[in-house]
Amino acid sequence: MKPIEDIFPLLNQTKRIVIVPHQKPDADAMGASLALSHFLKQFGHSISIISPTNWAGWLNWMPGCNEVVDYDMFKEKAEKILDQAEWVFCLDFNALHRTKNLATKLEHVTCPRILIDHHQQPDEKKFEWGISNTNKSSTCEMIYDFIYASGHSDKFTKEMIDCIYAGVVADTGSFRFSSTTAAVHQLVADLKERGLEHMHVHNDLFDNFLENRMRFIGHVLINRMEVFYEYNTVLLVIPKSDLLRFQVKTGDTEGLVNYPQSIRGIKLVAIVIDRDEERKWSFRSKGDFDCNTFARKYFEGGGHYNASGGRSSLSLDETVKNFHIAMKENIHLLQ
Ligand code: 5GP
Ligand code: MN
Repeated sequence: MKPIEDIFPLLNQTKRIVIVPHQKPDADAMGASLALSHFLKQFGHSISIISPTNWAGWLNWMPGCNEVVDYDMFKEKAEKILDQAEWVFCLDFNALHRTKNLATKLEHVTCPRILIDHHQQPDEKKFEWGISNTNKSSTCEMIYDFIYASGHSDKFTKEMIDCIYAGVVADTGSFRFSSTTAAVHQLVADLKERGLEHMHVHNDLFDNFLENRMRFIGHVLINRMEVFYEYNTVLLVIPKSDLLRFQVKTGDTEGLVNYPQSIRGIKLVAIVIDRDEERKWSFRSKGDFDCNTFARKYFEGGGHYNASGGRSSLSLDETVKNFHIAMKENIHLLQ
């Protein structure tokens, strides 16, 4: 993978560019894709964003979201766009399989793939150019850096500012995680000087759900949460029946994994959701428990040191049993 700086002199040559975030894009992946799109459009490029799957409805406020193509729904259209692409930016993921059904197509595009990402262990050989920096709070912060480094800081627009700020807020847990460096706060100061209305973005991100999600969270915390004090671990297990009962949609389960972290002494929180196609795991830790290694070793996943995800094709009961085994094997790291 050649350094991202190598593409700066090429930005002025108009191209057909596709931007792809990871599957089920979150505020960082979607924010980064939209901010980059708004930036590149100013050079006269033709830009399409193709999301591997659908995304949470509460992200639809993001400017430009209505133009994002959902690959699962519009496969033919998306593949045609990809066939004509001259560059494909891959944002907020470290390996092509993170784009689910789109991965095979992405693997076979004939044009260069360009990576901008902050996850551990990127599959660098798949990318012609790129930047991977696990010390960065978010891919949105990296898009901000990209704009400055390329010498085009005059091109920030209101749309870009809102999208970048949303991704930074989401991926830093509202400026709380250790990834919240001085540079992150300087970014916010700069965006404020450029006219950021942060209260609107917080409102759009956190006060923008439907009643069913609130009731679902209440139900989960009372009925689906188990605390293992000996292991400083909390496990949330969500069966399919709960998803149906509360009409849970994509994105409604996001953030649930954070609630049990407020219990004193808890080091690891795990949640498993019984989705149609797989059992999806999320892990969050505090301090020196490595969620990336844990997810890689036991649940075909990965991510960051204190936040990762994984999956299983086993039944809900079976994968939960495996979690118990994994937790016991890690007792020395959890106590
Ligand atoms: P979440 O729990 O919010 O889905 O994911 C937490 C972090 O881990 C995110 O940065 C996400 O991109 C990453 N992640 C989630 N699932 C997977 C996975 O299956 N594989 C890898 N490599 N990363 C994942
Ligand atoms: Mn991210």
